[in-house]
Amino acid sequence: MRPISYARATDVFEAIATVLADPKSAYLAGGTTEIDLLRLDVVRPTALVDINDLPLDQIEDLDDGGLRIGALARMSDVAASPGVAERFPMIAQALLLGASPQLRHMASMGGNLLQRVRCSYFRDGVSPCNKRVPGTGCSALQGINRGHAVLGTSEHCIATHPSDVAVALVALDAVVHVEGPNGARAIAIGDFFLPPGETPRLEHPLEHGDLIVAIEVPSSPVARTSLYLKVRDRESYEFALASAAVALRVEGGVIADVRLALGGIATIPWRAHRAEQLLMGARAEQATFASAAREELADAVPRGMNAFKVELAQRTIVRALETVVALGGAL
Ligand SMILES: Cc1cc2nc3c(=O)[nH]c(=O)nc-3n(C[C@H](O)[C@H](O)[C@H](O)COP(=O)(O)OP(=O)(O)OC[C@H]3O[C@@H](n4cnc5c(N)ncnc54)[C@H](O)[C@@H]3O)c2cc1C
Ligand code: SF4
Repeated sequence: MRPISYARATDVFEAIATVLADPKSAYLAGGTTEIDLLRLDVVRPTALVDINDLPLDQIEDLDDGGLRIGALARMSDVAASPGVAERFPMIAQALLLGASPQLRHMASMGGNLLQRVRCSYFRDGVSPCNKRVPGTGCSALQGINRGHAVLGTSEHCIATHPSDVAVALVALDAVVHVEGPNGARAIAIGDFFLPPGETPRLEHPLEHGDLIVAIEVPSSPVARTSLYLKVRDRESYEFALASAAVALRVEGGVIADVRLALGGIATIPWRAHRAEQLLMGARAEQATFASAAREELADAVPRGMNAFKVELAQRTIVRALETVVALGGAL
């Protein structure tokens, strides 16, 4: 048994100061990741600072067409917000396809971005795992790696990033707002998730004490015709094997605007820049979609059991694009 102190903060700066006072303390939001991993003995905080009383749960439609989501807004509330469902359907869909209704009521948006990988070697608390204990090796490289990543991997870690909504947020160039010991910062979401490289333990640029206060999504008219497609082993309560967040505008049969990001196949929510480049200005037809999907997966590194993900990801991209066109992405 290890003692853990518990404090409930009512003010952002008080919360930050309390966490800063103990290098082994952690914020507690919905607890659906933190308490899980604490029980599994994977994380060992000495103190938990509960942030649920902080006034960070607003969901605001901004005058310029953007969206500001407080870090403590619950997944279910964001998905149910009319402004989100209407203007950013891929965000609402990604949230509703994640976890279970009970979890979505508890889980916060800030916590969602910081959830940890589902790799069973990371979570068992004992297997060699560079992410949990740097320098011990990666059990998944030669182990059970069916759910693992084929893009953005390294010889040190191949765990898939598990968040669904982060994929949609990456496609839409969201910005993560942080308060911390060094003041307020805004981090482009494209710079927020760090691929494992040689340091799989480092997953994001936050320092101890940094508190996510909000996520801002810039105005994006193309997002009105968008979709989050999630492919998984069963139809609910399951992480993605492959997913695609797609926003598309087609004019006269030609792609005039496109956003594409992938989940379930990469170590970070994966912006499909190469595919986007190929799609922009091309004819909106199956052959274009298929070649863009092939191009995006060209550098994939399968590791045995997860080889099927390369074709699955390609098919997911094509189906997502075709579905958005059918839904009205073609004008
Ligand atoms: C069974 C199960 C199935 C799931 N399925 C899915 C799924 O299909 N798709 C999906 O996307 N997710 C899924 N999840 C993950 C779930 O969405 C996350 O656990 C949840 O979003 C985390 O939010 P939380 O508020 O509970 O975070 P917590 O558990 O409270 O915190 C998570 C981490 O973030 C830190 N933290 C929390 N808030 C902040 C903040 N504002 N600033 C700085 N640090 C902070 C905490 O210290 C902790 O390290 C699943 C989870 C479970 C348990
Ligand atoms: S894939 Fe990453 S998290 Fe899983 S065992 Fe290897 S180092 Fe650990």
